[in-house]
Parts: sequence; structure tokens; C-alpha cells
Amino acid sequence: MDHFEIAIVGAGISGLMAATYLAEKGKNSVLFDKGRGPGGRMSTRRFSEFRLDHGAQFFTVRDPRFEKYVQSWEKAGVAKIWCKGFSGTGDGHPRFRGTEGMNSIPKWLAGQLDVRTGHKVKSVRFVNQSWHLDFEESPSVSADQLLMTSPVPQTIALLEAGRIELSTSTKNYLSLISYDPCIAMMVLPKDPLSMPEHGGWQINEEPLQFVADNQLKGLPNPGQALTFHLGPQASTEHWESEPEKLIELVRGELRERGKELDIKDIQIHRWRYSQPARLHDESFLVAEGVPNLVFAGDAFAGPKIEGAALSGLSAAQAMIA
Ligand SMILES: Cc1cc2nc3c(=O)[nH]c(=O)nc-3n(C[C@H](O)[C@H](O)[C@H](O)COP(=O)(O)OP(=O)(O)OC[C@H]3O[C@@H](n4cnc5c(N)ncnc54)[C@H](O)[C@@H]3O)c2cc1C
Repeated sequence: MDHFEIAIVGAGISGLMAATYLAEKGKNSVLFDKGRGPGGRMSTRRFSEFRLDHGAQFFTVRDPRFEKYVQSWEKAGVAKIWCKGFSGTGDGHPRFRGTEGMNSIPKWLAGQLDVRTGHKVKSVRFVNQSWHLDFEESPSVSADQLLMTSPVPQTIALLEAGRIELSTSTKNYLSLISYDPCIAMMVLPKDPLSMPEHGGWQINEEPLQFVADNQLKGLPNPGQALTFHLGPQASTEHWESEPEKLIELVRGELRERGKELDIKDIQIHRWRYSQPARLHDESFLVAEGVPNLVFAGDAFAGPKIEGAALSGLSAAQAMIA
């Protein structure tokens, strides 16, 4: 069985930043992700000849620890400023995007790390003082230390599958965390929908939360390709709705706002865990009841990309302190 010093479940921004920090400190780690590529919710999808961001749309930067990394991404040409606010002349605070879609950033980070995609963990066990990861389709591996960055309900399921007994307080902390769902609709319109010049329409209401024109945003597209995000309430109500029903909902909402949408083609993605609704109040959590197990991700340091990145960095720092 292959053995590693540090294994990380999840190659979203949290896991990638943890591994980046560890590499800077001369520590090897290996990341396992069930996705076809890295990035998790920083996801860009190809849809015919178009590229669409269908998870996170942009990120902001407040903390100097995160700013340092974002500057390096800009220098590497994988991140750039999208705009400085979505309403009117903006608020002056930069919103960043990935150069060819949000996924440009995790792809670049992963290129410098040992990331094994297409590895769906099915259980996590603690055997003879090591962590064992069992996969659906590959041989198991073991590690001295384990960092879990998958959304918390998925992490809990993996631990339960491996019969891991956490302390009551750790279980309680984890069980308090919850996430909102988000239905993302990727639309190729027959005729272009009128959109703000920068391509971002931040509505922040129900049923529509955000609309992006991926071409105006700057993705290399031959025409308009739109991403619609429904709000948490509409996403919950319509979780099981057929595409036709979702289309009617969005078209009706746009009509009320004086816009008509005729659809040439559509894809729908349902994010069960889009952004945390209830968070843990520390930037990571060290498990009690079992050794060398740490939890990180956006549910631990703020419900956004910056929070997820800072959570990964703080967890990694603690793991080698
Ligand atoms: C629709 C939507 C809109 C958003 N908008 C914004 C925004 O505008 N700005 C912003 O800052 N943030 C936004 N966010 C939130 C942001 O995307 C997240 O906070 C951040 O990307 C979370 O990173 P993470 O590493 O914690 O988790 P994730 O990106 O979810 O990474 C976890 C990884 O774990 C992997 N995984 C799960 N289970 C397993 C398993 N069994 N085996 C192996 N791997 C597994 C997953 O494949 C995933 O890659 C949005 C999110 C969504 C979904």
C-alpha cells in the first residue's frame, strides 16, 4: 500500500492552498479528488464551443495572507480583475476572476502539486496508527496525517463509512454546519440578453441571485453564454423541478424585469452544497477522539473562496507546527 506523510481529501481551493503551503515549507502531500479535474466549486464547464463558470463567479480579497497568493496568480496570468463592483459605477473594490474561467486558478495550482483526480474516496479508516483511504476504483493508500476539505456532510459520511469515532464535541461542531443549495442554469440564448457592460448582474434576490454573461466577463467565447444562479430559497423549492419548470421560472422573472429570453440550448447543475449557511467559528478544526485528523474548507473561515483558501492555509500551518 502506498504511504504518504500527509493526505488531503479534496482539491478545491482549500485543499490546494493547504498543499501549496506545505510545499513551501518543504513538506510533501498528496491530494485526492473525485472530480475529473481540480477546483471543486471553482468550476468552469465546456458547453459546445463555449466556456461557462457555473460555480463561484468571482472572489474578493481582504486578508494580506490571501492577497500575497492572488498577486502571484495575477503574475502567472491565471487571475485578473473582472470589475470593481456590479452596480452603477461600482464600489471600487476589485472582484477577481480566473483568466479563462474560474478553473484557471486551481488548474495552475494543481500543476505544481501531487493531485490525483478521479479518485473518489469511499471511506476513511484509522488502522495501526495510520489513516487509510479507500477509493471506489483504485487501491487504498495510507497516511500519517489527514486533512479533510470535502463539504462537511460528505466528510461525515466518509468517516462514518470507516467507523471513525469522534469525540462528542467534534461531532457537535461538525453537525452544526449546514450549506445552502444552488441551482445553476447554463444557457445559450437565441438572441443576446441585454446585460451590464462588464457582464455581471448581481440581483441577490429570490428566485434569481446572479446572472453572468461569460463572454463579457472575459472568457474566450464566440458569443453570449449565460450562467443563472437561483437563490437558496428557490433552489430548495425547485430542487426536484424539471428543466422546463426552471426555464419558465427564469423567463417569468426576466419578463418582470423587462427582458425576454429565448433559449437555444441549456444545461443545469444542482449544487447541493453551494455556500455554507451555518459556519464553524474557527478557521479549521482539529478532531478530538482520533489523532492527526484536521477539517478545513469554506465552512470554517468564511463562506467564500477567500475563506476557503485561508482555512486551508491555517490548517496546513497547524499540521506542521
Ligand atoms: C453556485 C456557487 C456560487 C458561488 N459564488 C461564489 C462567489 O461569487 N464568490 C466566492 O468567493 N465564492 C463563491 N462560491 C463559494 C466558493 O466556490 C466556495 O466557498 C469555495 O470554492 C469552496 O472551496 P473548498 O475547497 O472549501 O470546497 P470545494 O471547492 O467544494 O472542494 C472540495 C472538494 O472535495 C471533493 N470531494 C468531495 N467528496 C469527495 C470524495 N468522496 N472523494 C474525493 N474528493 C471528494 C470535491 O470534488 C471538491 O473538489 C460559490 C459556490 C457556488 C457553488
